[in-house]
Amino acid sequence: MPRIIEEGALSDVLLAVRLGGTRCPRRYNRAAMTFTPDIRYGQSLRALNTFGIEAIASAYLRVTGAEDLRAVRADPALSVLPRLVLGGGSNLLLTRDYAGLVLHMVNTGIAISGEDAHSVYVTAQAGEPWHGFVQWTLAQRLPGLENLSLIPGSVGAAPIQNIGAYGAELAECFHALTAFDFLTGELITLHRADCAFAYRDSVFKQAFRNRAVILDVTVALPKHWQPNLRYAELAAELTARGVADPDATEISEAVIAIRRRKLPDPAVVGNAGSFFKNPVVSAEQHAQLHAAHPQLVSYPQADGRVKLAAGWLIDQCGWKGQSLGAAGVHERQALVLVNRGGATGAQVLALAERIQADVATRFGVNLEPEPVVL
Ligand SMILES: Cc1cc2nc3c(=O)[nH]c(=O)nc-3n(C[C@H](O)[C@H](O)[C@H](O)COP(=O)(O)OP(=O)(O)OC[C@H]3O[C@@H](n4cnc5c(N)ncnc54)[C@H](O)[C@@H]3O)c2cc1C
Repeated sequence: MPRIIEEGALSDVLLAVRLGGTRCPRRYNRAAMTFTPDIRYGQSLRALNTFGIEAIASAYLRVTGAEDLRAVRADPALSVLPRLVLGGGSNLLLTRDYAGLVLHMVNTGIAISGEDAHSVYVTAQAGEPWHGFVQWTLAQRLPGLENLSLIPGSVGAAPIQNIGAYGAELAECFHALTAFDFLTGELITLHRADCAFAYRDSVFKQAFRNRAVILDVTVALPKHWQPNLRYAELAAELTARGVADPDATEISEAVIAIRRRKLPDPAVVGNAGSFFKNPVVSAEQHAQLHAAHPQLVSYPQADGRVKLAAGWLIDQCGWKGQSLGAAGVHERQALVLVNRGGATGAQVLALAERIQADVATRFGVNLEPEPVVL
């Protein structure tokens, strides 16, 4: 139904946002022929974040393509609201209701989009579940993403923190993405060099923060594939399975088995995976820490610095398996904070801050949260 905001309607929308749950009166100008985004007001986000935390979004839109985003940008009432782009909600801690517009990416589709001498290019829409995408590529006998199996969330969120696991990162197979730029209203194409990928970081957490909405992602899968068995636990799992010369599907199965053993299933106990990034310290600080704590778990980096295992630091502070109200630290994996049932985001955040304080006091190391805290 075509719609135009008439005088007074802007304040109606803002009022609805403030009140939360109030249905905003819709007014239409049939002559205007403007596309109308189907906004819901007062939408619960509990089922849309893997911590399972209740929070109400003042306004909510299921985004099926760029035309929805253009309509939001063109709408004088909607365009001024704070925006949260939401995929699978698996890297998010909601500590309060969201007084703005949630743009939930639900566009789907996967297709082979090209090839050259070295690679096959596969493009997936942002709302596709990441693990389903990995499995789709493997079913087409296109290896390359297998080490990133079973990471929750959406394809569109994968570049945000350059998802990584079991010795691989998205950046290695990433080719390009299409995004809607809210600043200019244009569609933009960014290639790997434009994205400033780093450990759990990208341009989308920096210059393009609150600006770019990723619509699709294209990966370049190698025609001359080599297994990536750099991660010792993965190599050991394959050995234990009696697989000497694994194909990509066997690697995916091994990764899935390890992840199921180690990580809690968000469908069973709410969590967002690793709650803290592994801190990277100078060689000097590492030497001092290692002298004081010979068991320190650490990984040398190419730039001479050293990455520390945040889970080990937290475990040493005695937090594994502990709780603060309904928020807790997972029994098997100290890096994972969990919602034991009915926890609020504020409780999870309070637990995270206690852990940060203890690790800083004991080791002089600052732990940085990995999920987006709102
Ligand atoms: C059990 C578990 C295990 C995990 N293991 C790993 C792991 O091994 N490695 C790893 O890297 N991560 C891991 N994670 C974290 C998480 O799965 C990833 O970060 C994932 O990419 C988040 O996707 P999402 O769609 O759920 O993002 P959301 O939580 O919905 O959003 C995360 C951030 O991305 C932004 N965003 C989402 N979609 C878009 C888009 N289309 N355009 C622009 N911005 C967008 C959001 O605004 C938000 O800032 C794990 C999480 C869980 C629960």
